[in-house]
Amino acid sequence: MRTKQFKSESKKLMDMMINSIYTHKEIFLRELISNASDALDKLYFMSLTDSNVGIAPDEFEIRLELDKESRTLKITDNGCGMTEEELDKNLGTIAKSGSFNFKQENEKTENVDIIGQFGVGFYSAFMVSDDVTVESRAYGSSEAFRWHSEGAEGYTVEPCDKDSVGTVITLHIKDNAEDENYDEFLDQYRISALVKKYSDYIRHPIKMNFTTKQPVEGKEGEYEDKTELRTLNSMVPLWKKAKNEITNEEYGNFYKDKFYDYNDPARVIHYKTEGQATYNALLFIPKQPPFDYYTKEFEKGLQLYSKGVLIMDKCADLLPDYFSFVKGLVDSEDLSLNISREMLQHDNQLKLIAKTLEKKIKGELEKMLKDDREAYEEFFKAFGIQLKFGIYNDYGMHKDVLKDLLIFRTSNDKKYATLKEYKERMPESQENIYYACGETDEKIEMLPQTDAVKEKGYEILYLTENVDEFALRMLMEYDGKKFMNICDDALNLDSEDEKKALETENENFKDMFTAMKESIGDKINAVRFTAKLKKHPVCLTSEGGISLEMEKTLNSMPGGNDKIKAQLVLEINAEHPLAEKLKSLYEEDKETLGKYAKLLYGEACLISGAGVPDPVEHSNLVCELMTK
Ligand code: ADP
Repeated sequence: MRTKQFKSESKKLMDMMINSIYTHKEIFLRELISNASDALDKLYFMSLTDSNVGIAPDEFEIRLELDKESRTLKITDNGCGMTEEELDKNLGTIAKSGSFNFKQENEKTENVDIIGQFGVGFYSAFMVSDDVTVESRAYGSSEAFRWHSEGAEGYTVEPCDKDSVGTVITLHIKDNAEDENYDEFLDQYRISALVKKYSDYIRHPIKMNFTTKQPVEGKEGEYEDKTELRTLNSMVPLWKKAKNEITNEEYGNFYKDKFYDYNDPARVIHYKTEGQATYNALLFIPKQPPFDYYTKEFEKGLQLYSKGVLIMDKCADLLPDYFSFVKGLVDSEDLSLNISREMLQHDNQLKLIAKTLEKKIKGELEKMLKDDREAYEEFFKAFGIQLKFGIYNDYGMHKDVLKDLLIFRTSNDKKYATLKEYKERMPESQENIYYACGETDEKIEMLPQTDAVKEKGYEILYLTENVDEFALRMLMEYDGKKFMNICDDALNLDSEDEKKALETENENFKDMFTAMKESIGDKINAVRFTAKLKKHPVCLTSEGGISLEMEKTLNSMPGGNDKIKAQLVLEINAEHPLAEKLKSLYEEDKETLGKYAKLLYGEACLISGAGVPDPVEHSNLVCELMTK
């Protein structure tokens, strides 16, 4: 018989398991029971439509057997079993390579021990066992096969005898080592406690022979061993238990086990409804996005159960895209078990449920925002982008649901504020809600326009994500106040008199500006004086709908082809000594004025974060001036 090699990453994972110093090795039992339970679910589900399965619903079970003599722990299920190929495929490679990717990434940065919580599945058996045998017969097959491995060197698969459908896993438990006690996994009390701790909600019975000393009848003081078959778990799914009977730890373990997270959830939403739709929902808001969250591969959805039986693993219709980060399940009393995916989409019950779920999720987020600001900010760092896309997508259809969930850092110490908080803090004279865009808060603070707005006592929202400005544009206004980019040419914080004076000044020097614009070329629409700059000599502002940031974002999107152009104006601080210099150059030396114009345009580009369009020309001009 040929020994097969594990696929390379499985081998690595296996090595990790064998040499694990992880203190909660006990979770292997949870993993194996969970696999067995899945196998039972699969066969049970088939039995609903296939009378040949021949197992009554109450006959599905998981058996545990302990044998101290041979140091073995057996886990038997009468579930769907595995074919020869399945044994090879499922146990020779890691099913959830995602968890492995995660582990690898983390190893590089910090050594987080995630084994216990991540659901590394079957391989966790090797934390406690040095010899693992899996004998399995798949439903519909007359043959059975034995998979066997003693560790990272490889595994074998060969035919074996097994008269019933299902799987038996036999673990040879490791010998005790210096400071490792493995005997505990051969102890009936310990095993029973572990089942209670991790697998209580499994809806199939987990049975084990339990031996206790009982008084011998009629003989006082004498005891004898009595063995009885006990069911170790209560079999009530967690979501069907009353809320006050569930500890946070139980919620956390359930979540981590079922949804492959290594963190506890940020929030748990658990409720039951009766009436129009009767169902239980147990939802979790994660702390961190899964590794594939912001990729195409990510599939949103909740598990859908019908009367305790899983009928769909990721029911997408239950969650709007903007809440796609939510994990959890819905167990409905009204859905038919055999409902098809197509029919589900049109199911009114489901639509009704989805509506309520959305409200509950929103409500929970609002509660978090109110009661636990720190946690909400963490949540927002992880998933805020999704909410902003939610505002922008579908032509702004969902903006009212989402607008009060947004938070932005602001010029107020870079602390987060909701739009409501911003609005409440606005001084009476302030007409708009101001925002500024840039790669980082620091770059935004260096924008020339920032000073003038701050000086007025107005707060600025700092937008550092590409989607931010698009989301605000979609909102258009908040509670009657329009959003305005501080780099928009319409930004005007001056009094009427000041405006008039500036207009006159601009009119007087119209020809000078035309000359300057000609020398810069069609990269800009106009040049003019402005009063909105305090310390800085120049800035770029945009006229019309497209800001410089939007130009960058739109053109970098797939299909974007640099066609979109912000309409830019080069604005010069009318109060800066430079203004006088330009005026005199216009009188005396038009050629140098042209060079100044180019240089100033380059400076303005630099400050806006866009970079100088022609660095060589720019630096030549600087040198020329320096040597003058
Ligand atoms: P996961 O359960 O997360 O998919 P595992 O490594 O635990 O990953 O298991 C890999 C696969 O092996 C499972 O997805 C399942 O298809 C199969 N499997 C494991 N245990 C059993 C079992 N007792 N009965 C049937 N199939 C099983």
